[in-house]
Amino acid sequence: MSDRVPTTCMRCAVGCGHVHQAADIGYGIDTVRGDAAHPVNQGLACARGIQESRDPDGQWLTRPLVRSDGELRQTTWDVALARAVEGLREAHERDPDSVAVLGSGQQTNEAAYALGKVARGGFGTRNYDANTTLCMASAVTAYYQAFGSDAPPCTYADIEDADRHVVWGANPAVAHPVMFRWIRQAADEEGVEILVVDPVRSETAENSEHHVAPDPGKDLALARAVLARIVETDRVDEAFVEAATDGFDALLDVLPDAERAAETAGVSMAKVDLLADALDRQALVYWGMGINQHVQGTETARALVDLTLATGNLRPGGGPFSLTGQANSMGTRVCSSKGSWPGQRTFENPDHRRTVADRWDVPVDRLPDDAGPGPVGILEAGPDAVWTVATNPVAGMPEADTAREALEDAFVVAQDAFHTETIAIADVVLPAATWGESEGTTTNMERTVSRVRAATEVPSGVRPDLDIIATIGSRLFRGLFESTSPDPESIFEEFTALTEGTVADCSGITYDRLEDAHAIRWPAPGVESAGGYRYYEGSESGDAEADDTDDADTGDTDAGEDESWSFPTASGNAQFSTGRQGALPEPTDDDYPLTLTTAREADGYNTGVRSRGGTAGDLVARIHPDTIDEHADSVTEDRLTVVSRRGSETVRLDPDEGVPRGMVWLPIHHPATNRLTLSELDPQSREPHFKQCAVRLTAPEAELSPATAD
Ligand code: SF4
Repeated sequence: MSDRVPTTCMRCAVGCGHVHQAADIGYGIDTVRGDAAHPVNQGLACARGIQESRDPDGQWLTRPLVRSDGELRQTTWDVALARAVEGLREAHERDPDSVAVLGSGQQTNEAAYALGKVARGGFGTRNYDANTTLCMASAVTAYYQAFGSDAPPCTYADIEDADRHVVWGANPAVAHPVMFRWIRQAADEEGVEILVVDPVRSETAENSEHHVAPDPGKDLALARAVLARIVETDRVDEAFVEAATDGFDALLDVLPDAERAAETAGVSMAKVDLLADALDRQALVYWGMGINQHVQGTETARALVDLTLATGNLRPGGGPFSLTGQANSMGTRVCSSKGSWPGQRTFENPDHRRTVADRWDVPVDRLPDDAGPGPVGILEAGPDAVWTVATNPVAGMPEADTAREALEDAFVVAQDAFHTETIAIADVVLPAATWGESEGTTTNMERTVSRVRAATEVPSGVRPDLDIIATIGSRLFRGLFESTSPDPESIFEEFTALTEGTVADCSGITYDRLEDAHAIRWPAPGVESAGGYRYYEGSESGDAEADDTDDADTGDTDAGEDESWSFPTASGNAQFSTGRQGALPEPTDDDYPLTLTTAREADGYNTGVRSRGGTAGDLVARIHPDTIDEHADSVTEDRLTVVSRRGSETVRLDPDEGVPRGMVWLPIHHPATNRLTLSELDPQSREPHFKQCAVRLTAPEAELSPATAD
């Protein structure tokens, strides 16, 4: 019988420990179950995580491919790597920024770190990013601005201590099932409630005590209405605001009237009061892509943080908790050199660039001094060569037709485990090992690092991500790696050493420690330290340190005289913001009278490449029955065509009273959906505005081509 191998689920960012067992005969994973010894999930796991780990429904890549006479043809690794290196080198010799590198929250920390080292320290390109920016960048920017450091202050341990769970623009019942189980269990205690803010009556809303449905894209107005109500009713935690924050007076100067802001949000004052009352308790405020994927995503995320600051909800049992999607989105934020250098060192700081250049032994003037334009800007710049790793930009980018054209014009090296829309247009395809076949680590949404282990051999014809990256990096830039097949542990040590002394210090985490403890949360500067609730330094009465704080005294909602906080900002205080609701980039009008929104289906991670059998399948639109009735003349055999200014797609109808009238709901990151979506960006985070655009419905026969859609 095969060994039971403890590992971590790589499907979503809850980060459940799994135990994998390989098939006794042949290749592959035979058994997957939750790991009872893993401190994150203690044996729990969801069906999706188990299914996609054990038997993913993707079209496996088994051999390297190169394009010849317009066709992708099987070849050897030598030929494929030589072709990849040649194409990347030619572009690099023209201009470092003509090479684009697109990574993923699906990679291990080791592979993500190595890819960043090649992109920034080898190519020296500004045009490097990851698909995590499409989902999380606004939360990242908001955390940096508010607290001076990225990542949630809260941990899973806080869930059981909160009195109110405010889930805003997120659907964890679908996206993060094990975590939502904890939230629901906590709310089953007497006096504890879940409040969901979402235009759609989502699965999470169905399982909550209260649902507040703002108009699409008006969350910032609602957050300001709630704060204004808290101020009006004298429920600001003034002791905390005075002790630990800056900027509250400036916020008060621009804070709208509660009733007017509520009207803008399309929400009654009774619902505003419901949320204000919730924030007046010990509250966790969770948010997700419903907030982040907006031209004001950063400002809206900051407005949610403002709510927690104004009410003193920044101590164990409360706080602002952004929900990360892909399994290792958090790891890429710390290690991959995409938005910051490892350890959250900044691109703009010359000392930080010098430190990184010295460690990598590359010229400091090779390192870019800004993070680059984000994935949309990268493709808009028209790169000559694009190297994608575990990501599918042809399907995942907004205005997918435009993204596809940019990629078709470039030399594309696509590295993945499964066939994707990006593989189909690539010039070189490098088949990579995946979950169950690779060694490394991952970091979940609450900053916990745990091991990813191989339970089965890497099949012949396929290589681990880290080996492929190190091979290409070594051939192009001599000395960047010690080996073309580096030991993941040595890469992890290189990464963690580079974080030593930073706000995201992981230098106390080692493979040996992870062997014993399974999971260790950063910051962990010492060999025995582990991060807990951040910034809160507890009280002299001895109730909390800023590490594991499960038993902290959290009953007092006013800042005690002996409590203190410490933030890595210039002033040492947390920062309020002054954003106010602006106009949507594409409001509905007479020509396009409906709002298209997008959200995640359970198997919709990573553009669904592990769950849709190699084809995108029917696009299914959830639409309120009344809206369908209004277009009854256009419905043909349960089908309609959705038309935006960028394209049109025929969809199968799923009548759903949970979707508001006047809205069309489509699955996010589906290749067909993204032919319709909008590539307007949040100017601060560069995250696209996936959540709303204007559409109309027509009969399938009247479907317009994208060129004539307007
Ligand atoms: S909740 Fe997420 S991490 Fe846990 S088993 Fe499910 S998919 Fe995997």
